[in-house]
Amino acid sequence: METYESLLAAVTAAEGGRPVVDPATDEVLGHAPERGTADLERAVAAARAAQPDWESLGHRERSRLLNAAADAVDRSAEALAHLVSREQGKPLNGPGSRFEAGGVSAWLRAAAATPLDPVQVLDDESGQATLGYRAVGLVGAIGPWNWPALVATWQLAPALRMGNAVVMKPSEHTPLSVLALAAIVDQVLPEGVLTVLPGGGDLGAAMTAHPAFDKLMFTGSTRTGKAIAASSAGHLPRLTLELGGNDPGIVLPDADPAAIAADLFWGAFINTGQTCAALKRLYVHESLHDDVADALADVAAQTPMGPGTDEKSMLGPLTTGGQFRIVDGLVEQAKAAGGRLVTGGGPDRDGAGNFYPTTLVTGLDAGAPLVVEEQFGPALPIVAYSDLDEAVAHANALDVGLGASVWSSDVERAKQVASRIEAGTVWVNKHGTLHPMVPFGGVKGSGYGLEFGAEGLKSVAVPQVIVT
Ligand code: NAD
Repeated sequence: METYESLLAAVTAAEGGRPVVDPATDEVLGHAPERGTADLERAVAAARAAQPDWESLGHRERSRLLNAAADAVDRSAEALAHLVSREQGKPLNGPGSRFEAGGVSAWLRAAAATPLDPVQVLDDESGQATLGYRAVGLVGAIGPWNWPALVATWQLAPALRMGNAVVMKPSEHTPLSVLALAAIVDQVLPEGVLTVLPGGGDLGAAMTAHPAFDKLMFTGSTRTGKAIAASSAGHLPRLTLELGGNDPGIVLPDADPAAIAADLFWGAFINTGQTCAALKRLYVHESLHDDVADALADVAAQTPMGPGTDEKSMLGPLTTGGQFRIVDGLVEQAKAAGGRLVTGGGPDRDGAGNFYPTTLVTGLDAGAPLVVEEQFGPALPIVAYSDLDEAVAHANALDVGLGASVWSSDVERAKQVASRIEAGTVWVNKHGTLHPMVPFGGVKGSGYGLEFGAEGLKSVAVPQVIVT
């Protein structure tokens, strides 16, 4: 079993490299190796060479190896969790880095266990036809910094299960967590099947323009997703684009504020709001507006924020100074426009780390920047509505559609409202809970393609119809 120190030493550069900063202390945690286009060529050649043998192992043997990789993650889970907390900032406890390490293992096992058998689509006097799936070949995966090890697993686990080789570029803000994950799973995987190349956006752009990739999986911002679609168009790799969101929640007049407050809170503030499918704007019927705001403030007051490695912390810092400035700017604009701080605002600008307090803002227009722009941080706008059609129109007004939620004591009524919302997933009385067997993906500017379950396996494969 590895320790945090041995895992960190295994993935940091001997000399040079990119400094990685602990967002809770501003200290340099270590230096990540920095790869360039020559490394990319080597990784592509190694992956291409390794892929046919990997594919020919068959589903059963690849699944056995993915389960062995999950066992290896379980043995190193505590060390991996510590590294994620130091590098990305999320706390060890709550839905934090231990939860993330557990998710890595769970998603590896789920990819191994998901059946994907050929389906007979025709059987009559004219003949038989079956639809099956083959490996697509070489998968390029590019990831974000908010759930670095988990999102990397969402990309590599199904891709490997289907017999592909993977070349992966983590975010420049969280390369060590992904290098550590690869070091752990590479204990059981054949050489060349998975290569992690830490580097910046320029290396990502070089990957997406490289004709060797048959499939690109990208999780990150809508802006970068559009750049990837453009730069890869010349050689037509298949694309899965999991992009930004600005998830609405609608609280119906029959909801019970005290009963929903904790789930609402964690739907919005999990990982200090730095989650793609977090609740980012809340529309509450005017009859409940003040009660919901007060109930959320009560939960906030009981939820300590501090360094991720402090066992008492339930919320951590923002991962980057840039994200701190985005959240701060949106809250300052909201205040200037007459928004009322129910709690939070006023960060300590002189203290160490990127800590932004848990913040609730009421009294904003539906078009305020804090409402219509993705804050990706711990500042939730709460907007009162009087007419449900108006709330649904606000929910659908933006050009993104990742997740959404409806909150009500009447589940059937909530489901009817859910069906009117333009989002890839709509939760009832919860928000953002993901399951490895339940497909997940966005609509509109939140991208396209599905992850998880059998649909996720199909998205890293090519269909093949055999007609006899
Ligand atoms: P980002 O788009 O800035 O960066 C993501 C990755 O893309 C990084 O690895 C970066 O180096 C790389 N990159 C940058 N420019 C590139 C280019 N031109 N070509 C190829 N790669 C390039 O996003 P971020 O700031 O890391 O992540 C935050 C965003 O990601 C938020 O909008 C969030 O909603 C979204 N997100 C979405 C999901 C989802 O599943 N839909 C999950 C997590 C995060």
